[in-house]
Amino acid sequence: MSPNTPETHYDVLIIGGGILGLASAYYATARGLKTLVVDQYGIGNDTNSSKGLERMFRLMQDNESEARLAEASLAIWTELQRASGKNLLASDDLIFFGHRDAPMTTEGNVQHIKHTMDSMGMPYEYLDSPAAIHKRFPMFNLAAMPDDYVGLVQAASASINVQEAARTFLFAARQTDLLHVLDKHAVIQVAPLKDQAGYTLLTEADGRSVTVHGKHLITCPGVWADSVLKGFGLKQAPGWKIWKMSYAYWPLKENPPKIPIWFEFGNIDASDQGTFYGFPPLDFSPDRHNMVKMSADYTYDTYDAPSAIQPGVNPRLMEELVTHLDQLIAPNAVDATQYQHAGTCLYSMSPDGKLVIGRIPTAPGQQSFHAGASMCVMESGRAFKYAPLFGRILVELAVDGHTRYQHDLDIFSSTRDGLFEPST
Ligand SMILES: Cc1cc2nc3c(=O)[nH]c(=O)nc-3n(C[C@H](O)[C@H](O)[C@H](O)COP(=O)(O)OP(=O)(O)OC[C@H]3O[C@@H](n4cnc5c(N)ncnc54)[C@H](O)[C@@H]3O)c2cc1C
Repeated sequence: MSPNTPETHYDVLIIGGGILGLASAYYATARGLKTLVVDQYGIGNDTNSSKGLERMFRLMQDNESEARLAEASLAIWTELQRASGKNLLASDDLIFFGHRDAPMTTEGNVQHIKHTMDSMGMPYEYLDSPAAIHKRFPMFNLAAMPDDYVGLVQAASASINVQEAARTFLFAARQTDLLHVLDKHAVIQVAPLKDQAGYTLLTEADGRSVTVHGKHLITCPGVWADSVLKGFGLKQAPGWKIWKMSYAYWPLKENPPKIPIWFEFGNIDASDQGTFYGFPPLDFSPDRHNMVKMSADYTYDTYDAPSAIQPGVNPRLMEELVTHLDQLIAPNAVDATQYQHAGTCLYSMSPDGKLVIGRIPTAPGQQSFHAGASMCVMESGRAFKYAPLFGRILVELAVDGHTRYQHDLDIFSSTRDGLFEPST
């Protein structure tokens, strides 16, 4: 099918061709459903939250539900990797370290994560002092770590190959001949059909309109969620924000110390300020060979709407990042002042820091839902690791009206307080 001459009737319509839309397309087509993915900027665009090269996969979570969901997701990633023969996950040690009693951040804190691991009987290594952290990973300067720093190390962690993952979902869906794509079309209207018979989407590209119909609708629109939710009479509550995150890559020096996947809880309040992370060297792209990505997990750039986003990395944040890395990272690993490929990527952050996945309520907080539809919104910078699982869940919710993973999804409920307001 040419993208310019779409068929008009589908079993499943998917708004959003980021990683969750593609994972949903994979599961929908695997179930024999004729599926259309619509993306306003095109699949593989460099504007959405699924851009870039790498994401962290981790089992270490601050609550049991997310840890179980991560375990379920890991099983699917592993199966997908074997079936496709592609390197989707680069396994490595992951260290979480920081103040023993750091307040909770959007990524949790060391104590809550340790507690979850203990209560679930998940294996990990506990590093009880800065000296123990430095001994295990000499890349972290001993002098840079406050006395109350402790660490958790888990081996069942990985860097996810972002572009390979997207290609794998897309390739598998295309193999079925059931996948259709409407690239660079913005959905400007979502309308339910009479008698719960499905949905009509009106899309627009270069002034040209296309109307398509589907029995089921899956929405994974990232930071542009309000453009879709208005068709359901909803909009995101003011506590929702777009976070523009800045990052960069550092060339490694010759014979550097071992570099794990790492996340530092250096925060002294619950603001995320003081949280930093980094990746080991990865072979996901030839132009990042022998470089490591590092970033702050806080931002000074928050916005109320996509139209307000200002381009460019934040100079103040980059300065703080460089100053911090200069102290934290051993000088035989990188020169912290010499970074390349600085860039930005968008988080869609919910008021309570937890993402939203579920059926679409008929009104804010209501337990009644629009038939045949599901969504994942406000993915709060954390949904990539769950992509194969969430694709499956979104299809189950839209097509079957329920999912086998429901018992662990309450923390992500679409009906919890403070998420949405009526759109009119
Ligand atoms: C810097 C950074 C680091 C991260 N690190 C991690 C990590 O380590 N581990 C992890 O698990 N997760 C991480 N994440 C989060 C993860 O990348 C996101 O949660 C995930 O990529 C979101 O995917 P998505 O498909 O929901 O949204 P997106 O990738 O944003 O895709 C949404 C798509 O919908 C389209 N769209 C929206 N509205 C419309 C419309 N009206 N019409 C047509 N198309 C529309 C957009 O064009 C877009 O392409 C990180 C995110 C960032 C930014």
